[in-house]
Amino acid sequence: GRCWLDGRWLPLAQARVSVLDRGFLFGDGVYEVIPVYGGRPLRLEQHLDRLEASLGHIRLANPLPRARWRELLAEAVHEGGGGDLALYLQVTRGPAPRRDHAFPAEPRPTVLVLPSPLADAGALRARGAVVVTLPDIRWRWCHVKAITLLANVLARQQAAELGADEALLVRDGLVSEGSASNVFVVADGVVRTPPKGEHMLPGITRDLVLELLREAGLPCREEPLPAARLAGAEEIWISSSTRELLPVVRLDGRPVGDGRPGPLFARAWALYDAYREAVRRG
Ligand code: PMP
Repeated sequence: GRCWLDGRWLPLAQARVSVLDRGFLFGDGVYEVIPVYGGRPLRLEQHLDRLEASLGHIRLANPLPRARWRELLAEAVHEGGGGDLALYLQVTRGPAPRRDHAFPAEPRPTVLVLPSPLADAGALRARGAVVVTLPDIRWRWCHVKAITLLANVLARQQAAELGADEALLVRDGLVSEGSASNVFVVADGVVRTPPKGEHMLPGITRDLVLELLREAGLPCREEPLPAARLAGAEEIWISSSTRELLPVVRLDGRPVGDGRPGPLFARAWALYDAYREAVRRG
């Protein structure tokens, strides 16, 4: 495969970044992952809006105008051979003359676009996800989609070692999100998800799921989610661009509800599935 780096498409084996790149030295950069179905990106403008917001938070000017991003991502779909893809894009503050925490006077951002096949989460969806709760040890700007993911990496690894598919992160008694997903809980027949804020990434999939539920007239609420509430939940779901929507069937070693994907999940998934197929058809 090929990736777009510093202005051109290159075979992956030839794509090289300077050891002085601030992404490498400091994790000084932001990223996006955009799902593509049948060659068509899902919620492209929302992803580019979030990229813009992330760049704003780290005070890095967007290196490309919106029209150029659209063009480049269309090229990436072509490079990836169309079909179902995940487009990874990353912007770092680029190489600097020396390792200095403060910004270089004139940053030359490094831009990477990397298409890859979208892994099908169907098997995981059918069996249901296993999750564990872990303390949220991340910094306080989790709304920024920063490439600096060490705390997320450690959480996901710890989850994997505990036989789980995802970690739900708890800060000050509240569940913020997963290590790479947002979280929904069904209690008293109402779908609940934490409100947006600095404690979590504003997931594009989360917004889409909420929108679809509301359109269908299903009751949902954006409200803080006490970790203590998880144990009695009727259903728990997680959402992300790559795994779409998954039911959680085990939490910290105990079944969620009756240990099988719940009825509201089935409704939500049918809505999501239909939306995705409409994207695919164009
Ligand atoms: N939270 C975190 C920490 C994430 O990394 C992600 C993306 N993988 C999400 C939530 C879900 O966001 P999206 O639906 O936009 O993929």
